Amino acid sequence: MSSTIHSRLQTVKSSIEVHKCTLVAVSKTKPNELIMEAYDAGQRDFGENKVQDLVAKAEALPKDIKWHMIGHLQRNKVKYIVPFVHLVHGIDSEKLLKEINKEAGKINRTVNGLLQVHIAKEDTKFGFSGEELEEFISNDGLSKYPNVKIEGLMGMATFTEDKGQVAEEFSMLKTLFDQYNWDTLSMGMSGDYQIAIAQGSNMIRVGTAIFGERNY
Ligand SMILES: *Cc1c(COP(=O)(O)O)cnc(C)c1O
Repeated sequence: MSSTIHSRLQTVKSSIEVHKCTLVAVSKTKPNELIMEAYDAGQRDFGENKVQDLVAKAEALPKDIKWHMIGHLQRNKVKYIVPFVHLVHGIDSEKLLKEINKEAGKINRTVNGLLQVHIAKEDTKFGFSGEELEEFISNDGLSKYPNVKIEGLMGMATFTEDKGQVAEEFSMLKTLFDQYNWDTLSMGMSGDYQIAIAQGSNMIRVGTAIFGERNY
């Protein structure tokens, strides 16, 4: 078992090494023992999409883990993760940004975050449209929220076999990203991280390819 996670981790890492790309191991639904196998293999960045799980795992596991909140974040749960979260990937509205800023301000912390951009054809995915983002930034929207440090963008491509479409969507996000002086472009999951990297991703969020299929 442990050799499986170890070797899958090495496989993903070896394909991103030359690209200066950070791997966030998405451990959602997975037990602490499996997370510790990846940890023992050297992995330190982990991602969860449920606040309750993120908090419980952060309490139970080693303190040098960098926890990434990768899914849709409800405003009423922001306060639970603000004290320790390393990076919030899914800032998908100004309301959420405002709430994170408020809670971070209360404890004198600056929280790192990514603005989520809606790039997929599916309308189930959260995020700013490209136009909304450009408008928000050009109106100096970020300066209103000094306790949130926006480091870049995050996006999810359409769930499709059409690699050309996925590449096109990632490329759109990269073009937006390049307009600003940002550090982090979070795009790519188990099924499409190679395409994402080819399009300029520098942070991928990979679960299944490391931990195996999830049983919900
Ligand atoms: C679950 C999840 C991932 C990882 O998905 P895999 O296909 O298992 O690699 C990445 N990003 C987000 C936002 C997720 O919710």
